[in-house]
Amino acid sequence: MEDAAGRAPAVHHALTPERGGPIRILIVGGGCAGTATALRLQQLLKAELRDGRTEITLVEPRPYLTYQPLLAEVAAGSVDPRHVVVPLRRLLPECRVLTARVVRIEHAERRVTLTPVDRDGAVELTELPYDVLVVAPGSVSRTAPVPGLAEHGLGFATVGEAVALRNHVLEQLDLASTTRDPELRQAALTFVFVGAGYAGVGALAELEDMARYAAKGYHNLQPEDLRWVLVEARDRILPEEPPELADHTLAELRERSIDVRLSTTLESAADRRMALSDGSCFAARTLVWTAGVRPAPLLRDSDLPLDRHGRVRCLPTLQAAGPDGVAVTGLWSAGDCAAVPDPTAPERLGHPADCAPNAQHAVAQATLLAENLAAALTDRPLTPYQPGRLSCSTSLGLRRAVAHTSRGGRLTGRRAWWLHRARHLRGLPSRERRIRVLTGWLLGGLFHREVVSLGAVEHPRSEFQAGFKP
Ligand SMILES: Cc1cc2nc3c(=O)[nH]c(=O)nc-3n(C[C@H](O)[C@H](O)[C@H](O)COP(=O)(O)OP(=O)(O)OC[C@H]3O[C@@H](n4cnc5c(N)ncnc54)[C@H](O)[C@@H]3O)c2cc1C
Repeated sequence: MEDAAGRAPAVHHALTPERGGPIRILIVGGGCAGTATALRLQQLLKAELRDGRTEITLVEPRPYLTYQPLLAEVAAGSVDPRHVVVPLRRLLPECRVLTARVVRIEHAERRVTLTPVDRDGAVELTELPYDVLVVAPGSVSRTAPVPGLAEHGLGFATVGEAVALRNHVLEQLDLASTTRDPELRQAALTFVFVGAGYAGVGALAELEDMARYAAKGYHNLQPEDLRWVLVEARDRILPEEPPELADHTLAELRERSIDVRLSTTLESAADRRMALSDGSCFAARTLVWTAGVRPAPLLRDSDLPLDRHGRVRCLPTLQAAGPDGVAVTGLWSAGDCAAVPDPTAPERLGHPADCAPNAQHAVAQATLLAENLAAALTDRPLTPYQPGRLSCSTSLGLRRAVAHTSRGGRLTGRRAWWLHRARHLRGLPSRERRIRVLTGWLLGGLFHREVVSLGAVEHPRSEFQAGFKP
């Protein structure tokens, strides 16, 4: 890899401990799984960390953990973006947190190569040796070679994307209200989401609810002028929910005049014209892509044991499994990037099924991973991952949601919405953040919804640069 000026980067050999030094545990990724692993290890190895017998390093390109299940509420303006991110250094005082990206893993050499995150694109490679590696870089959007998607599509997995989407949607209302071009107005008021899992359905439903409210504040817009289209390749939405709750959600979305197209794919988005596999074609200035995930690309260029989907093949103990099915020494994994057998799911083609990629598995696996890792360090027996019954909920706007509980209960409407909020408040791994989010919700109940676009913050230099023009 070369830096922006095309120079070959220098390689530094950082931290080369002598034999007999501390046990170096390295965690790649500071999302749900990586952070939960570090948090639990911090508790279990307190004495060893204090007296220097063990050290834990966590490498994450952002200095914070993002709590993704609340991103839809960030987009809708019900939660402040800063409150769904938790600063890693404050959360993990006993660990070394490096704000960097791992670009190569060579487990045979017990070494990763990383580069600091620099907005100017400079690349400086540093090699970091370790004794034990926890692989938790999660997943990225599963994109498709659809013409126009790369140019016009927006993902929905980071806090930056949630804020950008909110600003963009509100800007479209401003544009539609001001333009005299009817075609531009129609395109500005058409919002297309591809992928109907909890990310896509949650984001669409929350934004539709917010935009419907915002439209009432314009002298020449009616909520009915807005067109929302949800495109899903499968014949159902919300695969994470039981079929009857998914059907309830589908009915509710359609009742809100949201155009849900099942068994349909997006064929082209070139020139902002959306061509669907059902033959329809229309202009839209908003395209959000939430059509599934694939494991972090970093894993592809490593010597880790991967399954056919590119995930780290794991034993139920969360140790990586070699080709012979035996645990690879010093290698562990959890979360979206790990193929962990799920004994509670029905077998697929005669093979045990793997855990679905979601936050509940990621946190539960990571907690057990830390306990097993601590046990392995002192030669104690390991425990296999046995997932509990999962619960799930999707917010559909203010005061409406669908949810199912781990005991099999099904909820809709206000009760589901309260449960959804309570569940995610509990899920945030910081008491301070929980209080901030709760305070925001309580204040939100007292005042009008905030529906102003701050899109200008995405171009902070434009006003200043305008001053240089003659
Ligand atoms: C909008 C949205 C809503 C969701 N809602 C729900 C929900 O309601 N319920 C639920 O259970 N799940 C939900 N999920 C899924 C859930 O958030 C993920 O399954 C969970 O975060 C997976 O945890 P993880 O640690 O494996 O990955 P992540 O949390 O994504 O963390 C991976 C981390 O690794 C870092 N990383 C990546 N590459 C590198 C590298 N090369 N070097 C160093 N670090 C790297 C990333 O920056 C990231 O911080 C949602 C997801 C999204 C996007």
